[in-house]
Amino acid sequence: MSGSSRDDPWYRDGLRFSCTQCGNCCTGGEGAVWFTEAEGRAMAEDLGMPHEEFLRTHARTIDGRWSLQESRTEHGFDCVFLDRTTQPGKALCRVYRSRPVQCRTWPFWDENLKSRRAWDTARRRTPCPGMDSGPLIPVEQIRIQRDRDCADNADAPW
Ligand code: SF4
Repeated sequence: MSGSSRDDPWYRDGLRFSCTQCGNCCTGGEGAVWFTEAEGRAMAEDLGMPHEEFLRTHARTIDGRWSLQESRTEHGFDCVFLDRTTQPGKALCRVYRSRPVQCRTWPFWDENLKSRRAWDTARRRTPCPGMDSGPLIPVEQIRIQRDRDCADNADAPW
């Protein structure tokens, strides 16, 4: 039986992933999309609006940390930047170029990579049709995403 550790993980042969732009990971139950001040400034610039206005209109604080706002839709609590109208059948991100680390690193979050079971649960619960499909992402790239997600979470005030 082959084991799994952080240095020699169960996904040592890589994982398949290709986003279909369904938007499922950007909606669902009430949640948080964390971002740092630098990420907030980048998104504001992307949208062509002053940083203060961006914070006032698109952000909120939860336990002292910035999160994007959500809007209640028939799909659940959509991220405020989820665009379901521009391209029929697709859910696009209005700040894709400047999206926060939390969004960039999905689905290679530490919590999803704890075990094959955790990965499968995330794929089913989201549900994310991109997980386990498409090109093989090598373990080195997965580690980089995982560690970026960890570093991002380490900035949390708790
Ligand atoms: S749920 Fe998966 S396939 Fe759908 S938008 Fe998110 S990453 Fe892409």
